[in-house]
Amino acid sequence: MINICENYEGIKSVVLERSNSKVIIVAVSKILPIEFIKKAYDCGIRDFGENRAQEFRDKIKMLPRDIRWHFIGNLQSNKIKYVVGKAWLIHSVDSLKLAKQISDFAFKMNLKQKILLEVKTSYEMSKHGIDLSKAKDIYLEIKNIPNIELCGLMTMAPFTNDVKIIRESFHNLKKLKEELEEVKGIKIEYLSMGMTDDFIIALEEGANIIRIGRGIFGERRK
Ligand SMILES: *Cc1c(COP(=O)(O)O)cnc(C)c1O
Repeated sequence: MINICENYEGIKSVVLERSNSKVIIVAVSKILPIEFIKKAYDCGIRDFGENRAQEFRDKIKMLPRDIRWHFIGNLQSNKIKYVVGKAWLIHSVDSLKLAKQISDFAFKMNLKQKILLEVKTSYEMSKHGIDLSKAKDIYLEIKNIPNIELCGLMTMAPFTNDVKIIRESFHNLKKLKEELEEVKGIKIEYLSMGMTDDFIIALEEGANIIRIGRGIFGERRK
């Protein structure tokens, strides 16, 4: 039996030991049935993350209104409508074009959508995200788009056991944050990085949002 509450408390205490700032722990509930999310909700968890737009749309209808939803997956333009205005924060915006499309939809709904820019912080494997070398310029461009509130940066470390590569990837995002904050008027509120296997390294590199799936819910079975 997986003990969701115990797992969550365990993660929480590690976070408290490692970090003195306020850290948001997002419980990544992708693929998992609603019952798991309800159990986690009963443990006091209010931040949940999903990565598929249709699954997100279907799940949120069946769950309490006070959940803060995080969208963390690749978002295609035809599925923006399922997510904008419903997710508290979209972590995975990886192009100027997508940011504009989100803004257009948010404008129609008369709201401002909070987003993060997803950055590719390592060269080992190609993942989603904007190239590190272009990220600063694109961040500054997106910052000017009207119906979105750009609040920070997100990354995924490469899939490797090499702790050095993982740390370097997170460190790159932290450096980008610092570079951006040298620009007048820019404040990077959130650094979303770290998952079950690497969140401690992420916290050491300044993460204030971590995204934990297996560490809370156990292994995912398809
Ligand atoms: C699945 C996923 C996570 C959580 O991964 P775990 O290894 O289960 O903690 C975090 N972030 C993103 C973007 C994911 O897709």
